[in-house]
Amino acid sequence: MSELHQNYIAGEWVTGASEIENRNPSDLTDVIGLFAQASTDQLDATLDQAKTAQSQWAAYGMERKQAVLMAIGNELMARAEELGTLLSREEGKPLAEGKGEVFRAGQFFTYYAAECLRQLGENADSVRDGVEIDVRREPVGVVAVISPWNFPTATASWKIAPALCYGNAVVWKPANITPASAVALTEIIARQDIPKGLFSLVMGSGRDIGQRLVESPKVDAISFTGSVPVGKGIAAAAIQNLTKVQMEMGSKNALAVMDDADLDLSVTLALGGAFGGTGQKCTASSRLVVHGAVHDAFVEKLVAGTKAMNVGHALEAGTQMGPVVSEQQLNENLDYVALGQSEGAELACGGARLDMPHDGYYMAPGIFVNTTNAMRINREEMFAPLTSVIKVDSYEEALATVNDTRFGLTSGIVTQSLARATHFRRNARTGVVTVNLPTAGTDYHVPFGGRGDSSYGPREQGKAAAEFYTTVKTAYISAGKPL
Ligand code: NDP
Repeated sequence: MSELHQNYIAGEWVTGASEIENRNPSDLTDVIGLFAQASTDQLDATLDQAKTAQSQWAAYGMERKQAVLMAIGNELMARAEELGTLLSREEGKPLAEGKGEVFRAGQFFTYYAAECLRQLGENADSVRDGVEIDVRREPVGVVAVISPWNFPTATASWKIAPALCYGNAVVWKPANITPASAVALTEIIARQDIPKGLFSLVMGSGRDIGQRLVESPKVDAISFTGSVPVGKGIAAAAIQNLTKVQMEMGSKNALAVMDDADLDLSVTLALGGAFGGTGQKCTASSRLVVHGAVHDAFVEKLVAGTKAMNVGHALEAGTQMGPVVSEQQLNENLDYVALGQSEGAELACGGARLDMPHDGYYMAPGIFVNTTNAMRINREEMFAPLTSVIKVDSYEEALATVNDTRFGLTSGIVTQSLARATHFRRNARTGVVTVNLPTAGTDYHVPFGGRGDSSYGPREQGKAAAEFYTTVKTAYISAGKPL
């Protein structure tokens, strides 16, 4: 009998209205556990308690809040091996990536622990004589965090840490495909010196409990990462209550490889950017825009590198790429392979389901060549271990191709020319731009977000997060004359 993992509602661990089973995508015989699905009554109860707890938390001293965030961060980092193993077991990313993700999640908490002590306002003289102005930030209130499965611990942490740092309560609805990581993080947070109900875990499907959460007038702000259609639905629900919203969604990131690029570096960046996390990253390099002068040599090395990749069980030594997260995702990926071929793209390698010693959702990483930027495989987010090469004749055409998308999260250029790198950095229409680095992989102390359909609302991470997790108050003070 598998262990039943509970939700954390109004400060208590409780069973739910029903349960779901969580299985390891690397080995479908491995049942990770049963996970409670919260009822709508439980959601309402925890939202009420969150409101009370938020006022108590906001009144905590800043060092007390700092200590809480620091303890969470330190524990995540200290337990990165153990929790990274759990994460890789349920999500399917290789163990090194799972451990790295948990460690990074810890860094979000320690970064925002320090930010608890750095909340400075502004002051000004009024245009009126004898009046001073004090501008400071206050918590926004109860924040709903809705997170995806591809970075189940890191994405949630880069939302939860600033939310708590700036004095808010959090109600977290994690992706139902990765509930074990969510329970593990909640267990750490629940043990801290926080008011009862400040932090809630409401597992359940997005369609049911997620939708109820985003429609609730008891929520003051919603931070979401996931797909564009779900994001648009959340925005539509949020606007009914004028709830503040922040959304990170899909993308179609391009890596431009110029004729003066270091070819081996370009291939390494493309492989890591395209197939890290089995290609299931909003920052994945899913379009490789390659200058004609190096196109054939690049493709030859890229295909050789892709074929040499070791696809396997996430927890086995030597695995470079794990399985796809779910059967549904695998089927969608295979549909995209068929679509690309029907559009005239040539599949240079991979793109098929793999038979492996363990029964799981394994797929060979695939490269499309002879593609145009007009093809659907180059316009829609696939979230798959698939990437496309698009041949261009000049730097100008490369930049135009990179920018020819409705998305705009990340982009990168590989070049030895300072002039091209600088021009690209200034003219790529993405929220993140990289030079001689992969399109994936960002720091925790600077803003993260995109343009177009990739993002909506204020940026995440670094000091930029304050814009979303706080509301500004402008105070006018007339002190009068001393007697
Ligand atoms: P979704 O957008 O469906 O899910 C993201 C989160 O939103 C999950 O927690 C989900 O819950 C929740 N959710 C779903 N529907 C609602 C709703 N109506 N109201 C509130 N919350 C909701 O992404 P998927 O996991 O289904 O992945 C589908 C595609 O989305 C991927 O193939 C990829 O293209 C894109 N995606 C992009 C991500 C990114 O980082 N930019 C991350 C994940 C996905 P639950 O999972 O429990 O249903």
